[in-house]
Amino acid sequence: MIKEMGKLKTVKNYPKFMLELALNILKDNRLCDNCLGRQFALVGFGLTNRERGRILKDAIILELYNKIPDDKEAVSINQNIAKMGNELAQQSMQRKECEINLTSADDSVCELCDGLFDQLRKYVKPVVSKLKDEDYQSFIVGAKIPPKILEKEDNIRAKYNITTGESIKSEFTREIGKLIMNQTNKEPDFELPDITIIVDLSKQTITLQKRSLFIYGRYNKYIRTIPQTRWPCYDCNGKGCVRCNYTGKRYTESVEELIAEPILEITGGSGSRFHGAGREDIDALMLGNGRPFVLEIKEPKKRQIDLKKIEKKVNKKTKKKVQVSNLSFANKRKVQEIKGLAKKTKKTYKATIILDKDLPEEMLLKVQNELKEKKIKQRTPKRVLHRRSDLVRVKMVYNVSIKKLADKKIEAEIIGEGGLYIKELISGDEGRTNPSFSSILKSQAKCVELDVVYLHTEDN
Ligand SMILES: [Zn+2]
Ligand SMILES: [Zn+2]
Repeated sequence: MIKEMGKLKTVKNYPKFMLELALNILKDNRLCDNCLGRQFALVGFGLTNRERGRILKDAIILELYNKIPDDKEAVSINQNIAKMGNELAQQSMQRKECEINLTSADDSVCELCDGLFDQLRKYVKPVVSKLKDEDYQSFIVGAKIPPKILEKEDNIRAKYNITTGESIKSEFTREIGKLIMNQTNKEPDFELPDITIIVDLSKQTITLQKRSLFIYGRYNKYIRTIPQTRWPCYDCNGKGCVRCNYTGKRYTESVEELIAEPILEITGGSGSRFHGAGREDIDALMLGNGRPFVLEIKEPKKRQIDLKKIEKKVNKKTKKKVQVSNLSFANKRKVQEIKGLAKKTKKTYKATIILDKDLPEEMLLKVQNELKEKKIKQRTPKRVLHRRSDLVRVKMVYNVSIKKLADKKIEAEIIGEGGLYIKELISGDEGRTNPSFSSILKSQAKCVELDVVYLHTEDN
């Protein structure tokens, strides 16, 4: 059930003479039960505003019964209440042989809400039919109330010094929500609804905002020619030109596209965004337990999907290039979590290195010893200076182990802190990274192949 918040609190400024206040309001205003009851929404409990308004009106009619037909003001109030369809008021009038002067049909329409609360079903019907094709578990209703109505309500609140009301918007969305819940058997969710239904009363439109679907997983990358995310063509900025063969892309494929395409197909989403826990270079492999990512599917038509099946489908389609594992449903918060994770995560790399001269075994051992548990001062590498500010970062190398592959060719396994630039740790980046393989060996070392072998994360 939708909770009626605030009802359990002790109400400040509880009206001393509620009936008198209600009577005063009705003297000058023709209100429906909802609009009258809403002015006393914080009073008592267990009633809808409609029931509250009805009870107050009935009590007033009983109070006035003795005064009609002689007291003109009493007759006029009774008239107003009768016009709005109150049966007790109508019977009173009949018994006392007073006529109900309905001069036009408008006379029986609430002056405040313009009959909104009598026409709730008018809005519910199209909402339910729109929802029919949607795959969702929960919803919430939002509304845009015409300024004219809000202004009228403000005026009444001010004029009669009403301190126990709730907003027309919250009553409207709650009442609509109850009806939708009854017809769809779906639950309202105030935190993370799958669908937000916006009823715009000025424009008379209904729109559905669908929450993105977030899928967490880990990926491995087995080829050295694709970037992690879609990379727009430099020349045309994605519009398509001769240079990019009108694809708008610098690389025809990416990890993002390989994973997202089959999932978009299944979910019928309108688009996707790929959030990786950091990224490896285009020419680096991502091995081991894989790199965490969150794929965001925008406006999905289907949410109830079998992730095991999807995993198989993606892996079959992307074959030897990319593989996904550990797929599970996530939410927006997971995106921030994995971004934060990437900065801290220790990683194990495997680098193939070419040296400019052949070096004795003890020199290689020296690199291992000197870099073990060593703090490295690393000025922003020249190759990324165009997108990162030029400053010195201190990053840890935890361990290095070296294997000789051939003359002038070695393989190093390096365990380093998140954010450590490995290619520069090897080359020294002309002294910008210190110490480095090159500075210790007193000879130029160059990384020719680099793979991420393992991400040391706790979440799996
Ligand atoms: Zn009303
Ligand atoms: Zn282009």
